[in-house]
Amino acid sequence: MSFSKLGLCSSILKALDEQGYSEPTPVQSKTIPVVLSGKDAVVSAQTGTGKTASFVLPILERLNTERTRRSKRIRALVLVPTRELAMQVESNIQTYAKHLELRSMVMVGGLDSEPQKQALIDGVDILVATPGRLLDLAHQRALYFDELEFLVLDEADRMLDMGFIGDINKIIDRLPKIRQNLLFSATLSKEVKSLAKTAISNPVEISI
Ligand code: AMP
Repeated sequence: MSFSKLGLCSSILKALDEQGYSEPTPVQSKTIPVVLSGKDAVVSAQTGTGKTASFVLPILERLNTERTRRSKRIRALVLVPTRELAMQVESNIQTYAKHLELRSMVMVGGLDSEPQKQALIDGVDILVATPGRLLDLAHQRALYFDELEFLVLDEADRMLDMGFIGDINKIIDRLPKIRQNLLFSATLSKEVKSLAKTAISNPVEISI
């Protein structure tokens, strides 16, 4: 199996090649086609399996090909439990989107919120955020989700362990009802399954 067979465009393939990634990992081979087909997915995969690229690559592909207007509004939201993971996911996005014209940004506590607000005004396609800071800015009306197409809940088990369920539900309430949802978790506990049920309809289940 090669990345080119998965249906990714040449700009993404070039970035992967420059990273020295020749083959998709198992979670990538299983998840990328599902995301490209527009279906929701619940994926159980540990860190280190290549799970980040398994959602970043197909989302970049879809955002790039389905760009119908020069929207400045957020089209993909990735919720993560920690600041460190947010930085890591954002750095992956920058790497894979190197040859695309898509903008991403991190929104986490501890960063000055004024530059974040200005970046939002300038336009952001993909936002990577921790739930608390995202809600703060949403309450200040600095965030618009009316053009949101993708929601990713990354490391959902850790977000629940950290007590983010209330914040996650409040965020989901603000999102358009029609969107594509992807949930990643190392374990599929009862709590994670229950979150999956409320946030996601009819997901394809993938386990590694
Ligand atoms: P993750 O599970 O997303 O934290 O990724 C684990 C590590 O694998 C990261 O350092 C990625 O950059 C790397 N990685 C992701 N996909 C591939 C691939 N197809 N081939 C080689 N390394 C990869």
